[in-house]
Amino acid sequence: MTVQSRTSIVWEYAPAPEATDHLRLTDRYGLFIEGAFCEPAEGRYVPTVNPATEEPIAEIAWAGPRDVERAVEVARAAQPRWAALPDRERGKYLFRIARLIQERSRELAVVETLDGGKPLRESRDVDIPLAAAHFFHYAGWADKLRYGVVAREVEPLGVVGQIVPWNFPLLMAAWKLAPALACGNTAILKPAETTPLTALLLAEICQEAELPDGVVSILPGDGAVGAALVRRPGLDKIAFTGSTAVGREIQTALAGREVELTLELGGKSANVVFEDAALDQAVEGIVNGIFFNQGHVCCAGSRLLIQESVLDEVIAKLWARMGRLRVGDPLDKNTDVGAINSAEQLQRIETLVAAGEDEGAVRRSVACSLPERGYWFAPTLFTDVSPAHRIAIEEIFGPVVSVLSFRTQAEAIEKANNSRYGLAAGIWTDKGAKAFEVASALRAGVVWQNTYNHFDPTAAFGGYKESGFGREGGPAGLRPYLRVVR
Ligand code: NDP
Repeated sequence: MTVQSRTSIVWEYAPAPEATDHLRLTDRYGLFIEGAFCEPAEGRYVPTVNPATEEPIAEIAWAGPRDVERAVEVARAAQPRWAALPDRERGKYLFRIARLIQERSRELAVVETLDGGKPLRESRDVDIPLAAAHFFHYAGWADKLRYGVVAREVEPLGVVGQIVPWNFPLLMAAWKLAPALACGNTAILKPAETTPLTALLLAEICQEAELPDGVVSILPGDGAVGAALVRRPGLDKIAFTGSTAVGREIQTALAGREVELTLELGGKSANVVFEDAALDQAVEGIVNGIFFNQGHVCCAGSRLLIQESVLDEVIAKLWARMGRLRVGDPLDKNTDVGAINSAEQLQRIETLVAAGEDEGAVRRSVACSLPERGYWFAPTLFTDVSPAHRIAIEEIFGPVVSVLSFRTQAEAIEKANNSRYGLAAGIWTDKGAKAFEVASALRAGVVWQNTYNHFDPTAAFGGYKESGFGREGGPAGLRPYLRVVR
């Protein structure tokens, strides 16, 4: 029975825009070094732009090599004092940061949405609460480090450089900073070029929390700043989240140097639907897996594997559900799919989608009216995809799902593992034993059962193969920031 036949009432959505008049943004943001905002040595400022309107939001200082050098010196000088604090005292600072993120959560959510294009519903309900949760979680670990690394005596690594992408700007900063600081390291964070704002608000929060000067520095700028940070002597570790190509470059640059490295890179994750799954629930999970954050998610369920016996049924249900997605103003609380993060990313998505059509896959894009300004891409489904197609192999990082089919469990496992990536996977089945059997055969860092894109600060996250190495989250996320002494 369809919804329409149960009621004659047609429900229209009234616009529900979130207010922006409560924001305390300034026109210009400097670099954050030694506990203060400062001018960049080369005096360069670049506007950060709202991808939904193409309008500038604020001018952002871009760091140069001299700023990187200074930030490393400051972090080196601050590190022994920070590490020497009683563990519980360090934890208190992290608790304060977590509480301040909660107190400023409405403002942070709106700024995240303005700067990155993601729906407010997501920044408000996912990004910001999870960022606070990561600080809370690692605040609790600060005085229990030896239990986090199986009763061994540990010490901090020293100074860490952290480079984060634009898809979850504040959340990625929290994933990186919270464990590093809990362990007694000092950190230099390089936010992504298109989304620096919430990292700079986090710098204000560090000031409000009276975090000792030099414990956290924030250096906005382009890829060159990241590259300079990686190459700067005086660092003990680099933690990077981003593309596999840049991850590879960083690994090469660090070869032969005594610098620890963790890489959280791309993915082409399989979301596997068996015929015995609760199909309506699976469709919700497929939608959440690929259209959450416009598909700008490293673990997005972008390769949908459906058992042949239910292929047509699942595709019909999915297509109907996609038609009900609301695409548009990210600040509207009803919006499901917001703006693409940048013109460059839109171009990448368009190129790969065109390749999918050229190679013979069948494209269906939802007919929705997209705003005239800004960067947009309609939710898209590809069927008749072969495992050799680019859209089945390469990370699209957009609201595009490629559907493949399988007949047997063995074929599902074979196809799911047929990727150079190994970040995440989803399994939809009513049979618990099958779920465990398939999960243990999948070469993926995270496997979700009957859910997708479910994150928790207590759970480890990270990849196999070209999705990188090292884990973030939970006690496993402490290990990359500690040296075992004995
Ligand atoms: P990048 O890997 O280029 O960016 C990630 C971060 O690294 C950004 O802060 C970036 O700065 C910085 N960076 C760029 N070049 C260097 C360098 N040579 N040395 C050190 N740091 C550097 O990702 P893109 O933004 O270019 O996105 C490209 C593709 O990568 C996407 O289409 C997607 O497929 C994938 N991706 C995967 C992510 C994931 O979570 N796994 C996240 C983001 C992208 P800046 O922003 O200034 O360029």
